[in-house]
Order: sequence, then C-alpha cells, then structure tokens
Amino acid sequence: MKIDLLLFMRFVGLVVAVLAGSVNVASSQIMADYSSEDTTLYEYCSQYQILYTKIREQTITPDSARQEFSAIMRGLQNRFRSSETIPSDSAQRDSLRRLGTYFSFPIRGYTTSAIGGSHGEGYRGNGFDLFDYAVRGSHPAQDIFVVDRNQDNIDDKTGQPVDILAMSSGLVLAIETDWHPGSEYRGGNWIWIYDPILNGLFYYAHNNQVDVRPGQWVQAGQKIAEMGRSGYNAYKARSPTHLHLMYLQIQPDGLPQPLNTYSWLLTAKLSK
Ligand SMILES: [Zn+2]
Repeated sequence: MKIDLLLFMRFVGLVVAVLAGSVNVASSQIMADYSSEDTTLYEYCSQYQILYTKIREQTITPDSARQEFSAIMRGLQNRFRSSETIPSDSAQRDSLRRLGTYFSFPIRGYTTSAIGGSHGEGYRGNGFDLFDYAVRGSHPAQDIFVVDRNQDNIDDKTGQPVDILAMSSGLVLAIETDWHPGSEYRGGNWIWIYDPILNGLFYYAHNNQVDVRPGQWVQAGQKIAEMGRSGYNAYKARSPTHLHLMYLQIQPDGLPQPLNTYSWLLTAKLSK
C-alpha cells in the first residue's frame, strides 16, 4: 500500500510539471498531428473538445468520430505511460482502487443514499454509442440526487449551491459552459475528465456552473462545478435536481466501454 501511494504522489507531481510546460508550448503551436510525439496534453484537450462538439452537432460520421476518438485516447495514454510512473498492468490499478482512498464521492455533503434507485439500478449500459448522437434509450450512468424541491439549484438543507467534486485525480479534457434553456443538448453544462491511472473518462453532466478549464489537473475531491439542472431533460420540472455521472473505460483499441460506477461510489470517501 505504501508503494502505491508513493507512486501516486510522484505521478501527481510529474503531471503538474508536464502540464505547466504544455500550456506554455500550446500557445505557440497551431495544429497538432494525432500521432506526433510533440502533441501536448493541452492539444489533446482541444482535439477532444472539437471532436465531442462535432459528435453532438452530428457534423461527423460515427465511424470517423470513432477513429478520431481512438487516436486521441491512445495518444493521451502514451503521453502518460511514457512518464513511467503509471501503473502499467491492471493488477496494479486494481490495488490502487482497493485502497479505499482512491475515489471521492462526487457530491459534497451527501452520501450513497443519494444515488438513484436502491441498488444503483439506474444504470443501463446496453445500446450506448458515444459516437452516434441519434442513438437513445441507454443510461450508462448513475444519477445522484439532492434535496431541491423548488428546483432553484440551491440545496434546501443548507441554502447553498451543491458542490460537485472530482471522483479521482485527472486532466480536464473538455467542458461546456454555454448551455441555455431551450437548447436540445442533453448533457447541459458538462465536464470530461481523463484519469490516466485508470485510463478512463469521467463525465459530469447537468451542472449549473463549471469551475474548471480544459488542460487543468484536478485532485480527487476537488470542487469542479456546482450542481444544476442544465440539459434538455434535466431542465424539465419532472426531473429532480441531480448529477449525471458516467465513466467510460478506454479499451486497448482506444474505444470507450461504459462501466457502472456503483461499487466505486459505495466505497468512495465522503466530503462534508
Ligand atoms: Zn442521468
């Protein structure tokens, strides 16, 4: 356990250093080649943001989107892997997760009882396709609800907005901050965060306010947003105020596979 923690701390320090360098370099480089070893982390963020916007606006075919996504993910993974501080095999990753300190519960002041359903059955992974915005019906996510009866994004118990916290440490890949009522986009103001240790993506949707920027490194438990009701369905009166939390495990081919975060949420560290 000691070794894992040490490894993790070294890794965090390294990422901060890499990021500090990348952002400076990014401003002087205009375009990136997906396969280039010179691609900075910040450029991967830009590529992801552009790609996800194209998917949402359906200006890219699902096949092309799949290819671009895979290239970005494999590039990102290589960038972090070359640091040699990332656990390289799944046994090491599993032991990290089992520490019980790896994940933070993503809502401050709430516990696992706020998770929709009684045993996390709100998760329906079948039929999900990240690359085809027209495909509907699946819900490869957990919804976590707060007490907000008058739907004003203010917690009825505290009189304050509800803080959304990063479940694990990672790189903020992309954000949306321009959602407005009437927009048909379902995620509202969302955040995508890449966790290089798990090699996966966390997606936090329906925020009222986004407090992070692409290229930023966040720690587990760090505030990244305030909960809201943004998103086509989330804005409707029939929808109680909640966080939509999705995790996509990146496969060896660079493509995403949704994974149920319920067991992670049950053991996550709570924040008051
Ligand atoms: Zn949801």
